[in-house]
Amino acid sequence: MTTTEYEALPALAEEPPSTRSGTVVMKFGGTSVADVERLRAVARRLVDAHEAETRVVAVLSAMGDTTDDLVRLAHDISPRPKARELDMLISVGERISGALCAMAIHDLGHEAISLTGSQAGIVTDTAHGRAKIVDIRARRIHEALDAGRIVLVAGFQGVSTDFDITTLGRGGSDLTAVALAAALGAEACEIYTDVDGVHTADPRVVGNARKLHAVSYEEMLELAASGASVLQLRSVEFARNHDVKLHVRSSFSEAGGTWIREEDERMLEKALISGVTHTGEETVYRVEGLSAGRLFETLAVAGINVDTVLQTGTELVFTAPGPERAETQAALEGLGATWSAREDLGQVSIVGAGMRSHPGVAAKVFTKLAELGIEPEIVTTSPIKIACFIPRGQVEPAVRALHDAFELDRPDAVRAHA
Ligand code: ADP
Ligand code: ASP
Ligand code: MG
Repeated sequence: MTTTEYEALPALAEEPPSTRSGTVVMKFGGTSVADVERLRAVARRLVDAHEAETRVVAVLSAMGDTTDDLVRLAHDISPRPKARELDMLISVGERISGALCAMAIHDLGHEAISLTGSQAGIVTDTAHGRAKIVDIRARRIHEALDAGRIVLVAGFQGVSTDFDITTLGRGGSDLTAVALAAALGAEACEIYTDVDGVHTADPRVVGNARKLHAVSYEEMLELAASGASVLQLRSVEFARNHDVKLHVRSSFSEAGGTWIREEDERMLEKALISGVTHTGEETVYRVEGLSAGRLFETLAVAGINVDTVLQTGTELVFTAPGPERAETQAALEGLGATWSAREDLGQVSIVGAGMRSHPGVAAKVFTKLAELGIEPEIVTTSPIKIACFIPRGQVEPAVRALHDAFELDRPDAVRAHA
């Protein structure tokens, strides 16, 4: 189970949020703003919401692969770019989207203003590349809304308590949107993306995955932590801690999507398992001869995002993101530890709140994997998740097989209810 320190409660605007009714935060991801035509479509959608008497705050991601391209550019010029300068660079993509969208809104005859994270009052700590929000000073947003403008906030970024530009971790525009929804007392936080909701598995891997109607915060935390990249994990934690209801839906249609909210009985009485997730981007480390405290403190100081942690006898096993391998190795060498790393494993997990009250789920998982000739190398569980590390090449077949075994392609897997 992934643990992340929780974001601080944003200091709310002078007025209590409940008196500011009719505010909506609408977030659009990279594919949804990938070119000029799509940005125009987003502008149209924002204007429609504005014309329906809503105070509209939009959070935009960078266009298409802009952030990846900027990260690559940084590494082209320097093998180890300084974190402060990297944030200066990669925060630019979101500003481009906001300014262009504001221009498109002006052409539709409406008022709009684009703001950087800093101008929007998003204050963070000083941890470049993975900054935490410590405060939201929303006065400027309120003033623009009061003046009848649509407000476009650059996602994924803020300004640190040292006045430097920071970014909130990959996928961080989701967090910008959720944090603003909390600080503004918005009625909803709508996450517009390139799929029409959270599915029973990644639709790119499982063709007959179904869109879920409703998912609890706890389930979504486990889904996001184990590979359902449709929502950034930290944004889900923030939404749960501040009771922000999320609606994940398509940028390309009007159809309703998936609601993320408190668990209710209707979620439990429907399907037992909500989804199958996977990831292939983690490195599995085994370390001998070190105390857990010393190891994990050193990794934390180095800023490494440790995920799964296991201790068997004197051996410690942990996973960390593949791209953080150089930093992880340097930390392990610095400790003088005996260690090994494996890059050939991926993870497949099943998640579902109904698992708590239904024995036999684990047995079914292992039987199914055995039928495929797979014996998991590492298994970890939480009350609502079973995660197995298996050979990376077997991950996608395993996802499809488990999706079939738990009949997640059936209509009642979606948990439809009003
Ligand atoms: P955005 O750019 O809008 O933030 P992301 O690429 O971050 O979009 O997230 C959307 C992608 O998440 C989808 O294209 C899909 O392939 C992937 N995904 C992985 N698991 C799931 C899931 N269980 N349900 C829906 N989408 C998923
Ligand atoms: N553009 C950033 C990224 O690609 C943030 C986001 O899209 O949410 O990670
Ligand atoms: Mg995303």
